Amino acid sequence: MDIIKRLTELSKNLYWAWHPECVKVFRDINTELWRDVNHNPVDFLNRLANDILEDKFQNKYKLKQLTERLNDLHEYLESSEIWGAWQAGPLRAQPVAYFSAEFALHESLPIYSGGLGALAGDHLKAASDLGVPIVGIGLSYSHGYFVQSLDFEGWQQEHYFNVSDNILPIELAKNEFGQPLRVCVRTESYQIWVGIWLVHVGRNLLILLDTNVEGNSSDDKNLTSRLYGGDKHIRLLQELILGVGGMLALEALGITPSVIHLNEGHSAFACLEFLRMLMDRDGQSFDNMFEIAASQIVFTTHTAVAAGHDEFDPELLVKVLNPLITQLGISENRLLGLGRVDPEDEKENFSMTVLAMKMSRYRNAVSFLHCRLTRAIWNKLWPTTSQYDVPINYITNGVHISTWLAEPMAKLYNKYLGPKWKAAIDDPESWTSMESIDDIELWEKNSQLRAHLVDYIDRTVQKQEKARAEGKESETANEYARQAKLNPAVLTIGIARRFARYKRMDLLFKDPARLERLVNNSERPVQFIFAGKAHPQDTDAKHVIQMVFRFTRDPRFIGKIVFIENYDINVCRHLVQGVDAWINVPRRPLEACGTSGQKVAMNGGLNISVLDGWWAQAYDGANGFAIGKGSEHSNLDHQDYVDAEALYDVLENEVVPLFYNRNEDGIPHGWVARQKHALRTLTWRFSAQRMVMDYTLSCYLPAAGGLTSSVTADVRLLKEAFKLPDFARQPWIEEVKSKNV
Ligand SMILES: *Cc1c(COP(=O)(O)O)cnc(C)c1O
Repeated sequence: MDIIKRLTELSKNLYWAWHPECVKVFRDINTELWRDVNHNPVDFLNRLANDILEDKFQNKYKLKQLTERLNDLHEYLESSEIWGAWQAGPLRAQPVAYFSAEFALHESLPIYSGGLGALAGDHLKAASDLGVPIVGIGLSYSHGYFVQSLDFEGWQQEHYFNVSDNILPIELAKNEFGQPLRVCVRTESYQIWVGIWLVHVGRNLLILLDTNVEGNSSDDKNLTSRLYGGDKHIRLLQELILGVGGMLALEALGITPSVIHLNEGHSAFACLEFLRMLMDRDGQSFDNMFEIAASQIVFTTHTAVAAGHDEFDPELLVKVLNPLITQLGISENRLLGLGRVDPEDEKENFSMTVLAMKMSRYRNAVSFLHCRLTRAIWNKLWPTTSQYDVPINYITNGVHISTWLAEPMAKLYNKYLGPKWKAAIDDPESWTSMESIDDIELWEKNSQLRAHLVDYIDRTVQKQEKARAEGKESETANEYARQAKLNPAVLTIGIARRFARYKRMDLLFKDPARLERLVNNSERPVQFIFAGKAHPQDTDAKHVIQMVFRFTRDPRFIGKIVFIENYDINVCRHLVQGVDAWINVPRRPLEACGTSGQKVAMNGGLNISVLDGWWAQAYDGANGFAIGKGSEHSNLDHQDYVDAEALYDVLENEVVPLFYNRNEDGIPHGWVARQKHALRTLTWRFSAQRMVMDYTLSCYLPAAGGLTSSVTADVRLLKEAFKLPDFARQPWIEEVKSKNV
């Protein structure tokens, strides 16, 4: 019994998800089953009989592993030797409440769609590692986002599975009598009951809200079933539950946050509920408490596409928010004005981004370039201010290293940086030793990781083909899978992300003849791996997927270009750890940041990217490759043409030669030099750890201390934060200063 208890304990804190040695404890029990359950330890343990488990751990070595991993977990949870203990004191008393419509923590918890979720998941994990107290608040989607497959025509099929609660690493929040805790969100003239689930993310907690509870109508029960599904009304209710329900859930759990952080505008109703609570607490009016509430609210905007901001019809909005408007004691028009650029303009829709902008005193974009664009877009909210003084700053996104770093690479980090490198991640000087990695050693790791990836791709292609043939042993399916096998010695390039128009996933195919020469060069071939989902309503994007699919079947490209279905954390992890290079071709300046390339860089892969998002501030001429020179054209067709030419040029003239120019020892020293320089200059700087430190010092602490009450104070505070000795030596701060942000 003891064994079961210990395994269960390990499975119930997502800590295991970013500690490969914990994953190993589970996987080694039964590798095949581990894969079958999508690496979900709760489901995994449910399916194994107790006596089988007890038996497995009769083995002294295995038992020792399990005991040690649990000790690690306990030590991790109890340790006070953490950055947050001395840098984030006030947050220990009252944590940050971090609201997000999605969290990508692990493939087995399907409550995310893409980049926004990946960012939120990595933010929580890094905050846990640092000891910065953050409570995440999201929705528990019982059907998640969809699972993607392609039919024989390459047309995207969307599958929704009911994820049952008892296979997730979540537990029901209960009151002192052991009954499920619930909160009640009022809308129109009725109420919606909301259940509360808890997820342990290392030292931190994630709260997931769920309307599938007794007492709700069947429509309301389904409200939280799908991420980004449903019509405008459902979307609005979801956002009401996330924002208002989220604040109520915190209260029910006895958590009083000192800072409200909105990760994108979906959760902006939390501001209104937060304000209402402060009014209640102090017996004050809306106007008296407005600035006080706003001074504790941090808003991160992610969308560079103007049309990508959530908007609602005013009539629908006042109908749904009616009870809250009454509680706030303001008029409908006053409320609508908070979501309008021009409060007097009755034709304007209600924008969640505008609400978040108006109700927060710390606002940030997610990269330097994105900040510039965001200021230009939202200058209209501060019409008397110059574009350079719009009170929106930037904190560049980063990724959680332990989640995305391949094990062999982690060993290399340990060897060259010393075993305690994670604690000193923000010290760029310590990273200079990455330049002294032995070339042979790095190249061997690389070849090993590429071979591992090729193996995974072959297995996956085979599985996909079988599924397309409806599980039958089909000759054509087998034949295709055999022909489509990749070659582990060939330059392997990944292109994977959402198929949104501005990401131009079709750019590589603008000149198929030129592409054919590239992939079929007899001495210096290239192979490409594609992956990505289209939003279910985005027919154009589905056509692009179909086009890519057809190229994968074109005799010229079979075995040179493959498409991997259902891009998720699992697929992403495999790709970023094994590719030699990663292509990113957004239409500048529309990529807010992009983080997948950061995951590639830490694993020794090189970025080949348009100078957009993070790459515009990361590329230094020697740590990867640039496509073009960062030009923007008003004629989009022309821009696509210019960028496609630049993409072929950089592949033919720089990437391929550098990869295949080998010395007598068989090693491409020029390529390896670039890898080492990338490892040194990119990993720490684009880590989630650096990102969370930035948020803590420049937003959370000042907001928790109520240090500002005017709209421009955050700029000053950010500059104050730069004076801290820890920050002053970081070169990217210089960049910020010199660009006068
Ligand atoms: C990291 C990640 C992303 C974000 O990467 P982009 O470069 O913004 O596309 C998207 N989806 C998944 C599954 C990820 O893991």
